[in-house]
Amino acid sequence: MGSVNCAKCAKLRAELAEAEEAGNKTKVIDCRVLLRRHPQHDEVPVESKGEK
Ligand SMILES: [Zn+2]
Repeated sequence: MGSVNCAKCAKLRAELAEAEEAGNKTKVIDCRVLLRRHPQHDEVPVESKGEK
């Protein structure tokens, strides 16, 4: 696990972290949805991070 090399997901994760810091809930949700729509990384669930 953790071997997801997807530039788009990496970017989305960065944006997600930024949005969380900025308290931008709309964008947080947006990024999470987009990350979930990227399921094609060797059966590894993409959404594993970001939940506390
Ligand atoms: Zn991806």
